[in-house]
Amino acid sequence: MEQKNNELSRRSFIGKASKIGGASAVLGMSGAMGLFMEDDREHVEAKQIDKQRHQKSPKKGDTYMLLNVRLESGYEYENGNGNVVATRSTIRNLEIKKGIISKILDTKEAYRRDIDCYDVQGMLLLPGFKDMHIHLDKTFYGGPWRGAVHRKNIFDIIEVEKKLLLELLPTAQERAEKLIELIMSFGSTYVRSHCNIDPTVGLRNLEKLKKALANYSDKISHEIVAFPQHGLLLSNSESLLREAMQLGATHVGGLDPTLVDGNMEKSLQTMVQIAVDNNAGIDIHLHEGGETGLKAVNRLADLTEEAGLQGKVTISHAFSLASLSPDQANEMANRLASLGISIASTIPIGKNAMPIPILQKQKVNVMLGNDSIMDHWSSLGIGDTLEKVHLAADLYGWSYEYELSQALSLATGGITPLDKAGKQVWPKVGDEASVVIVPATCSAETVARLPKRAAVLHKGVLSSGELSHVKK
Ligand SMILES: [Zn+2]
Repeated sequence: MEQKNNELSRRSFIGKASKIGGASAVLGMSGAMGLFMEDDREHVEAKQIDKQRHQKSPKKGDTYMLLNVRLESGYEYENGNGNVVATRSTIRNLEIKKGIISKILDTKEAYRRDIDCYDVQGMLLLPGFKDMHIHLDKTFYGGPWRGAVHRKNIFDIIEVEKKLLLELLPTAQERAEKLIELIMSFGSTYVRSHCNIDPTVGLRNLEKLKKALANYSDKISHEIVAFPQHGLLLSNSESLLREAMQLGATHVGGLDPTLVDGNMEKSLQTMVQIAVDNNAGIDIHLHEGGETGLKAVNRLADLTEEAGLQGKVTISHAFSLASLSPDQANEMANRLASLGISIASTIPIGKNAMPIPILQKQKVNVMLGNDSIMDHWSSLGIGDTLEKVHLAADLYGWSYEYELSQALSLATGGITPLDKAGKQVWPKVGDEASVVIVPATCSAETVARLPKRAAVLHKGVLSSGELSHVKK
């Protein structure tokens, strides 16, 4: 995992970061240094000399300046056919006040010099990323390498968990914290973590996870799904789940109601009832493919409508949608969108490749998650939501500027700096200062090249990387 991280860093063009100009001119996207004017470079070099790097970094509640921030400002279109061929950007100075972007200034405008100033040297500002499906509470990450366990089916691994969870429990908080650090380093400022609630660990994983997340509350926002991994009905976990909701879980989880619980109707009804009773959201793991999976999606849609849970339900994985024809997928997507039911995906490849372009076209909220990071289920997660967007681009053939640029929305909870018409819609004054700063010129380049995350801010607080403090 560390190895891959380093590779990503090398692949990025961090070397450019120190050269990128503080130009106020509108610049093209290609990233070729030729586009940066000579006098901009001199300007930056002069500034480098009278600047010193400190360990200083923005803390909670601080008011400070982010200087020479690159913001996307529009698309460039090819003459005649309207194809987007490049992304324009501008350089601005931003004032951050108590976690909010309070001013966006032209570089020629006066700004407060009596407060801390950090120079981002022309690097690009993007909205913070959201990891919307991960299991922070059970991981090998943070300890020695260990591969996933052999299994024939889901019941085998539930059996494995009955021993393994107790073995991991003493270090669960420490491992969760290391995993939080990992996803923050890749730009996550928001995480939805599932947490095992089962007869083996009871509420103990939840207690550890809550402590870990509390220790990082300034650096990352979170939601917690109370997840009956051993089967809501199968392991008779309803009362434990209800206790978990009282202890602060934000969402009720569920798991394969036919395959695992053996009673789709009762399993879904129980899950929905717990959500209604606790005024909470739902996020169900639905791995079941084919017919029973589709039945569960349809029935959950009915129950969402009946219970008035529109906009509060997520189906994680939803592999059954992969078996639909394009027409069927369209119809299903319409229904999900009309009820505000979100899909959380890890971008599976192969037979479970999801109809994500159709879901998005019908305006279903599709969210990404890293899910397993080196655990007994899978060894392959690296913790980078942006890498999942890159994978989606590869899988669905998004290789042009416009498609790559708009694909960023998968990582950011739907926010893109430019809307579909190329109008700048982010950031605006008043937006939360939860952002990722990268040595790139635009979103498309970021998705394609996976640059190093130079600095990550959560509500104005530096959560990962570093910022260059300008000495007063
Ligand atoms: Zn999961």
